[in-house]
Amino acid sequence: MTTQFDVIVVGCGGMGSAAAYHLARRGSRVLALERYNVPHTMGSFHGVNRIIRLAYYEDPSYVPLLRRAYELWRSLQDEAGEQLLYITGSVDASPEEGEVFAGALRSCELHDLEHEVLNAAELAGRFPGYQLPDGHFALLQPEGGYLLSERCVVAHVNGAMNAGAVVHAQEQVLEWTSTPNGVRVTTNRGSYEAEQLVLTAGAWNGALSDELSPLLSPERQVLCWFQPTQPAHFSPDAFPVFNLTVEEGRYYGFPVAGIPGFKVGRYHHFEEMVDPDNFDRDPNDRDEAILRQFTDRYFPAASGPVMSMASCIFTNTPDEHFIIDRSRAHDSVVLVSPCSGHGYKFCSVVGEIVADLVIDGSTRHDTSLFALDRFAGGAAD
Ligand SMILES: Cc1cc2nc3c(=O)[nH]c(=O)nc-3n(C[C@H](O)[C@H](O)[C@H](O)COP(=O)(O)OP(=O)(O)OC[C@H]3O[C@@H](n4cnc5c(N)ncnc54)[C@H](O)[C@@H]3O)c2cc1C
Repeated sequence: MTTQFDVIVVGCGGMGSAAAYHLARRGSRVLALERYNVPHTMGSFHGVNRIIRLAYYEDPSYVPLLRRAYELWRSLQDEAGEQLLYITGSVDASPEEGEVFAGALRSCELHDLEHEVLNAAELAGRFPGYQLPDGHFALLQPEGGYLLSERCVVAHVNGAMNAGAVVHAQEQVLEWTSTPNGVRVTTNRGSYEAEQLVLTAGAWNGALSDELSPLLSPERQVLCWFQPTQPAHFSPDAFPVFNLTVEEGRYYGFPVAGIPGFKVGRYHHFEEMVDPDNFDRDPNDRDEAILRQFTDRYFPAASGPVMSMASCIFTNTPDEHFIIDRSRAHDSVVLVSPCSGHGYKFCSVVGEIVADLVIDGSTRHDTSLFALDRFAGGAAD
């Protein structure tokens, strides 16, 4: 049987749940299809929480989007009646010329964001959990914090359904084709038609789009939660979230929340590019060792027994900026791949952007950094 919708959203994880929410609230007849459960632990959004921060070292042009993302997260949590956004402050630290500190400072200066610069000793004096090397500088921005990402997916899905969206879990999109009036989508359970299609399938986007496939590299990541030996140093009121470059690499971390442990991860962990349908999801001793080595050295009061570990997937583009654009090959398809390990905080505003593109054909937000055409010469970086 074929059912007609205005728009079908493929994938109901971070971005798809937000897209379904904004589309439905603006009156679209939405079908959102999720191959696993709502929520689940097979994609990119699980593991309790994700960092949100304004001092954006990756590129200052993300800051206006972040301001809007904060507004939308706050209105979502009001609507959901539960706290989704926790403000702890954020620390972005590296040697003075390093990308993390220097880039975060540039964003603050350009966008007039409140901030403080602390050296390693000053940071440890303020937040004793931190033991950074001499010569490191930390930018402290008071509005940083974290989002309860799994709960945010649930809140977006609840809001979407309240606004009339049809959401199916345990339904995998197998293929889609363009039709004279839009698209036809075939799943393991049925077939549906819609005027437009939104691909928000995260690590699986490449399998659903020939345009995205050469541009996306799914990568295995591992998160670890260590039981602090001095818990008071790692509570949310005593420990800001961080991004930190040291000689071992670039790491990020959180205060204790949800799971009784200090949460830490390493960007591009072991640089393992994977097939999201076929890789070793079980964290192992080698995964723990690289995260423990870092924790021992820079957060020694957090380096107690392991409390939990989880694997997760980054979906990287060649320049690590997002792809949010209309397909060049199919007019009725919007391609949405905002990950490269830093996308979650943007879900709320990406949902709004997707609704703009689908309903109005354009968006007031500046998405030029995310255009497909920047890779027109090929994916090689
Ligand atoms: C370990 C880790 C730490 C991170 N830390 C941060 C952070 O601190 N801050 C931050 O901002 N970002 C962070 N990120 C990035 C962020 O989590 C991702 O950018 C974000 O979750 C991507 O959302 P998405 O919707 O593209 O993918 P997902 O959230 O994975 O959603 C994709 C969905 O599509 C579904 N799907 C796939 N194929 C199909 C199909 N054929 N049919 C139906 N459904 C399908 C999947 O099951 C999934 O639910 C982190 C990511 C990881 C892995």
